[in-house]
Amino acid sequence: MEKTNSQARNYFDELMKDYRFKEGYHTCINCGTCTAVCPAAEFYKYDPRQIVATCQTKDDDKIEELLKSDTIWYCGECMSCVTRCPRKNGPGMVVMALRELSIKRGFFVESEKGRQLLPLMHAMVGNVLNYGYCIYPDTFNWENHMESGPVFKWHIEHLEKSLERLGANYKKDGPGILRKIPQESLDELKAIFDVTGATARVKHIEECSAKKAAEMNEDLATYEQKAFEFNSNTHFHDQ
Ligand code: SF4
Ligand code: SF4
Repeated sequence: MEKTNSQARNYFDELMKDYRFKEGYHTCINCGTCTAVCPAAEFYKYDPRQIVATCQTKDDDKIEELLKSDTIWYCGECMSCVTRCPRKNGPGMVVMALRELSIKRGFFVESEKGRQLLPLMHAMVGNVLNYGYCIYPDTFNWENHMESGPVFKWHIEHLEKSLERLGANYKKDGPGILRKIPQESLDELKAIFDVTGATARVKHIEECSAKKAAEMNEDLATYEQKAFEFNSNTHFHDQ
């Protein structure tokens, strides 16, 4: 990402403007309690204590390195750390602010996990705007989710029966699970996206991703598919 002047790289001050950072960042005594309770740290090469310590340096180079890394995408936002920190820090909230800044500056495309934002966003935003749900059977491809074994395959192949047993009202008017969301409500959702800046954010993520795809000599569709499928297997402790 281009650095225009020193002010443009004043990441700590920029983070301090984010209410999540202000809430979650106070003086850290590096005790490591957050890391000890963090479920993500158990599996990933991830250390919330280190993240807060890096912010505490206020060093632009170190913070930029963090913004471009896989590290900030490992957090599961469970907020277990918030309840245990003796200094009332919230590393999970700090991570939220770091993600925001990473997206804003276009740094997210520099990491494998960050590049996954594009397919994730397209799936979620597309479903929300078209159907009113984050996950929707019509667009769900079980072959893309082999981690769940045969469960999703069975569910999709027996959708009608399965939803009937759950008491769903799939695609029908009236109340119930997976009911048809009226067009008027979908239009309202789109208006909320426009007014809150979510539409502009979607466009920004697409533009940054297209730029990175060009840099990697890939068309955007290939880039997106690879971002969804590729796993370098370097993220876990035992790899
Ligand atoms: S628990 Fe709090 S004080 Fe201890 S390392 Fe984590 S953020 Fe710092
Ligand atoms: S919110 Fe993130 S950093 Fe905090 S305990 Fe959960 S996974 Fe770990």
